[in-house]
Amino acid sequence: MNRPPDWYSRGLPHIWLPYNQMKTTAPPLAVARTDGTRIVLADGRELVDGVASWWTACHGYNHPHIVAAIQAQAARMPHVMLGGLVHEQVLNLARRLCALAPAPLTRVFFSDSGSVAVEVAMKMAVQYWLNRGIRGRTKFLCFRGGYHGDTFATMAVCDPEEGMHNLFTGILPEHYVIDLPSAGDDAFERFVEQHADELAGILVEPLVQGAGGMKFHGPDTLRRLRAAADKRDLLLIFDEIFTGFARTGTMFACEVAGVVPDIMTVGKALTGGTIPLAATIASQKVFDAFWSDDPAHALMHGPTYMGNALACAAANATLDLFESEDRLGAVRAIEDALRRGLEGCRGLSGVAHVRVRGAIGVVQLHAISNLGALKSRFADAGVWVRPFRDIVYLTPALTIGEADLAKLTSTIGAVLGQ
Ligand SMILES: *Cc1c(COP(=O)(O)O)cnc(C)c1O
Repeated sequence: MNRPPDWYSRGLPHIWLPYNQMKTTAPPLAVARTDGTRIVLADGRELVDGVASWWTACHGYNHPHIVAAIQAQAARMPHVMLGGLVHEQVLNLARRLCALAPAPLTRVFFSDSGSVAVEVAMKMAVQYWLNRGIRGRTKFLCFRGGYHGDTFATMAVCDPEEGMHNLFTGILPEHYVIDLPSAGDDAFERFVEQHADELAGILVEPLVQGAGGMKFHGPDTLRRLRAAADKRDLLLIFDEIFTGFARTGTMFACEVAGVVPDIMTVGKALTGGTIPLAATIASQKVFDAFWSDDPAHALMHGPTYMGNALACAAANATLDLFESEDRLGAVRAIEDALRRGLEGCRGLSGVAHVRVRGAIGVVQLHAISNLGALKSRFADAGVWVRPFRDIVYLTPALTIGEADLAKLTSTIGAVLGQ
């Protein structure tokens, strides 16, 4: 293999990379460029991408329509502060997101990462009660297997293991993390009855818990959450940062359940994998609790780069593509191909479970003993697949071609079969 480029050797000693023990982790691969569903490495190798960069690049990398929108916006106005100023891109995007989201989600608050979008949702929910003069409703009910971000407030509503609740005991605010409701068992409803007066809201990733292990639940679960929230007048928050924008087969996962949350968060695919942007979308009911002559009832939040014009231009271009091209049809085709392509994994030794929903394919193993070795075997085989914990998963760009998708699924079968 070629010598790594100069920028790689000189910069690597100064970078702190995510989610890894820097001492023992394998060195990261140097990427020269991307194109569609391919990642081109500095040494010339080309990997077929099965992850879409943490599910962001929904239309594939370097989509010309998104790139052109960013370039045009950069030439006109990269950014202005949203304090006292607005611009065409941010208002168009707010209007379009509300039109796309289920009614009555009517107000969009922009931020620059999913974690912050979830924090804003939590702040809205807590202040919703305070503004209405109701004290003590400060805790969230959330679920094992959930993932909502890495900041302190969001770690506290993740799965206790994922959020490292033990390590940070005493620092993290304490919320209630319980099992998702299961059929024929009313433990969830009983829990809500018991704790309703302390709860600001219920927070869940609808249909698929992503980073916490790619676990699926059904629309009936979401209907139970809505019913319990309605019964005790709690706010229901759907974190659609992973599931939003067609990933599970509908534009937003909550649509299949016919359930509308009071607050919804989106991010990740919102800009098609180009510029960080996230949004917290509130219902009219939530917004109304802040609408007052009392300045203390305002939502005191405002990220510096809130509503960044480049990011909003990229998001508007991303939404254009959802309108002009049949991505929901593409997800159906990907779902079929994932089912066919991963079917053979069921018989492999070490495989515990194979599941597919929309453009998400998961092969769960009994255990992965050497995650590092498995990762490098995928790269050596020409695919970019990032197993974590006990799962190997695919969340490709929705634009992926049949041949590339077949290469991903057959490589997973071959590598796991070894
Ligand atoms: C990725 C993710 C987040 C956090 O988003 P960041 O942009 O990484 O802060 C929150 N919730 C869900 C469901 C996610 O998948």
